[in-house]
Amino acid sequence: MIIGIVKETFPGESRCALVPAGIARLVKKGCVLLIEAGLGSSTHIPDSEYLKAGAQISPRHDILATADILLHVRKPSIDEIKQMKASAIHISFLDPFNEKDLVSAMAERGISAVSLEMIPRTTIAQKMDALSSQANLAGYVAVILAAQRIKKILPMMMTPSGTISPARVFVIGAGVAGLQAIATAKRLGARVDAFDTRPVVKEQVQSLGAKFVEIDLGETGQTKNGYAKALTPEQLAQQRDAMAKVCAHSDIVITTAQIFGKKAPVIITRDMIAGMKPGSVIVDMAIESGGNVEGAKFNEEIIINGVRIIGLGNLPGHACVNASEMFSANLVNFIEHFWSKEQNTFVLNTDDELIKGCLITHQGKVLK
Ligand code: NAD
Repeated sequence: MIIGIVKETFPGESRCALVPAGIARLVKKGCVLLIEAGLGSSTHIPDSEYLKAGAQISPRHDILATADILLHVRKPSIDEIKQMKASAIHISFLDPFNEKDLVSAMAERGISAVSLEMIPRTTIAQKMDALSSQANLAGYVAVILAAQRIKKILPMMMTPSGTISPARVFVIGAGVAGLQAIATAKRLGARVDAFDTRPVVKEQVQSLGAKFVEIDLGETGQTKNGYAKALTPEQLAQQRDAMAKVCAHSDIVITTAQIFGKKAPVIITRDMIAGMKPGSVIVDMAIESGGNVEGAKFNEEIIINGVRIIGLGNLPGHACVNASEMFSANLVNFIEHFWSKEQNTFVLNTDDELIKGCLITHQGKVLK
């Protein structure tokens, strides 16, 4: 079985799909690993490390044309799809809800496309959950970025020159990224408030030492997969009113609120920004799915009424060394999980619930 990994071409993407430790695990299974030269250059991994782990360096076109399985961080381009073998399996983030044309092109080419976002969030799949591994790092990065931008320190300090109060951090949305943002801000000594529409999260927030902001929005709940349900316009307005007060006394606000497969809700309005202290910082972590903050701009930092709004995309890419290590482990765990000992190969078992969840195209058809 030939497994191919080419360099990412998406602008600004610094992660790579497989690190040498992942190569070694797959070579041990008997796979041939073809990589493009310079695969790990942005994560400071020289080609020699990949070669030592058992990979072979090949031209990009040859990898795309011969690989049985192609591993990518981002979705492939139409041009790459045209170069792939008709029966190839492609595993990556795919954003299938917004990439209908790309998905059709993969189906037409006969490619089996696995979308990492669609792997069910079950206990057994945790080791392959790239959405979580990357969101976790993104939550850390968001706090570090904000901490660098506010011209204050985060912890309380009692010194002979006076006492400094801890900075106040407000985290909106306490899923994987939000919980890591809370934990990171707490470690840095900030006083942290958090809110999520899923009431089950309250205990997790409190166990990290943060205060859960109580807002009675009536019926909210979550889907059977644990995702938040979209709020009604009335509930959102109610949420904004209650949050304006918390935002007004916060130094850092981190928004992570997302609705799976839909545009993110606008939670922080211009009026709320106007009520915040000049010098405070908002990080809009939902910017890539539409944004939680009115006026936030993708891949930009802007100032509105003295408040800095960070709308940078690809936050895991700021920690691309760890992000690539974790992503690589997620992919290898996925392949190993479906490795048949009898056939000594990876088997795309279409009867398996996990594969049913994440297989988007197969045998010429779009499945979802
Ligand atoms: P996500 O990125 O889809 O959303 C981030 C958070 O925003 C969620 O907690 C959501 O409830 C919240 N949110 C949505 N609208 C909001 C609003 N208006 N105001 C405030 N918050 C709002 O979430 P995620 O991090 O991908 O996690 C989704 C679910 O999957 C969670 O239940 C999580 O516990 C679960 N999960 C399970 C596993 C596992 O068991 N294997 C692994 C990872 C995540």
